[in-house]
Amino acid sequence: MAKKYLIWNEEMETMPREELGKVQLKRFRETLERVYNKVPLYKKLFDEAGVKPSDLKSLEDVAKFPFTVKQDLRDNYPFGPFAEPLEDVTQIHATSGTTGKMTVSGYTDHDMKVWAEVMARVYAAGGTKKGDIIHNAYGYGLFTGGLGFHLGAHEVGATIVPVSAGLTKRQVTIMQDFGCTVLVCTPSYALVLAEAIEEAGLDAKKDLKLRIGFMGAEPWTDKMRMEIEKRLGLEAFDIFGLAEIIGPGVSVECPAHNGMHIAEDHFYPEIIDPATGEPLPYGTPGELVFSTLTKEAFPLVRYRTRDLCVLHVEKCACGRTMVRMGKITGRTDDMLIIRGVNVFPSQIEDVLLSFAELSPHYIIYVDRPKDMDLLTVEVEATEKLFDEGWDAVKGMEGKVKKALAEALYVSSKVNIKEPFGIQRSQGKAVRVVDRREL
Ligand code: AMP
Ligand code: ZN
Repeated sequence: MAKKYLIWNEEMETMPREELGKVQLKRFRETLERVYNKVPLYKKLFDEAGVKPSDLKSLEDVAKFPFTVKQDLRDNYPFGPFAEPLEDVTQIHATSGTTGKMTVSGYTDHDMKVWAEVMARVYAAGGTKKGDIIHNAYGYGLFTGGLGFHLGAHEVGATIVPVSAGLTKRQVTIMQDFGCTVLVCTPSYALVLAEAIEEAGLDAKKDLKLRIGFMGAEPWTDKMRMEIEKRLGLEAFDIFGLAEIIGPGVSVECPAHNGMHIAEDHFYPEIIDPATGEPLPYGTPGELVFSTLTKEAFPLVRYRTRDLCVLHVEKCACGRTMVRMGKITGRTDDMLIIRGVNVFPSQIEDVLLSFAELSPHYIIYVDRPKDMDLLTVEVEATEKLFDEGWDAVKGMEGKVKKALAEALYVSSKVNIKEPFGIQRSQGKAVRVVDRREL
């Protein structure tokens, strides 16, 4: 791998797997002791399952321990799952659940150091270093995105511009005037920015200095990555995380662009069959489960993320030995069942992005008129297609409908809207609206 890419922590990130396993086992034991002795939720869960921390003799024993789920956190809202007294918790974040109460995350000073370390690994993976100017358009606040990227920027010694979300035109001005070299934001907002740059009559490749982008917090495809790279003139890296585990920094794509390396010395990953809970071998898709190995305030054991992906353990060209996770292909709870057929929104996105005549802004509606599921995909035409007139747009609708039917094995209605006919998001895009009353 070319020298412009860096490995922040050579010792840990390239550690032989056998050695890494020893580190993980030791840390896993410590975490089990911590939660069993300090968090009533775990005492209850372990006692019910008839397991004790000392039952973990090897990493194979991990599967003996019970899972935790979002509901456990809600039931103990807000601070019940914490293993340290509140006075030692120096930062709090929260993520809104789709229903019900927020999930609250707490960090001690030590946990903040862990977060800074894993975020520094993220930045370095794309080649960020001192001298870079980071435009941070992730939202600052309870959401972990903004402050997580902020923290890591200080760790690598780069200059951080805490723009946060919103006021898109001003963001373009800042990027240009400040000479920002690294852009961090959601992939959907990257496209909004690309559009605003073009609208301002600028060419990102000539008028801006962007080199690197770290986009995450929502699912996106490789096609979308290429679109972002082309329009913003940067190399884009997928970054994954969730507030419960630490926030951004759980894993990041490396320059080989063949998956996101998990910081396995801090977060222990498993893939399970979401229906049975059985652990699945590397290479088999399933639900991602994490245990934290070094967190003090808010440790989690076998937390079910509901995210679906696959783990790869084979050697990576970048030299890191840490397991790679494939792109999130869906969630156990966002899979749509349309007339009995499983449909993932990412499959629809894949089809839409394969048409040069369409812009990458879309919304998927699911309705149930007369007890029949109806899938409607609204997507924008490019200026070029729209200028060609009504017949061209209608013809394209037919083509997209056919391509969707072939990919999804289910028919859909396709509405192609005029350019800017779909509302823009400032953060995570709402791309699926399920209006069925089940
Ligand atoms: P939050 O805790 O609010 O940041 O949300 C975490 C969730 O966002 C994860 O469980 C994933 O479903 C999603 N997510 C985060 N990063 C990514 C990513 N790079 N690709 C796909 N989904 C992501
Ligand atoms: Zn790699």
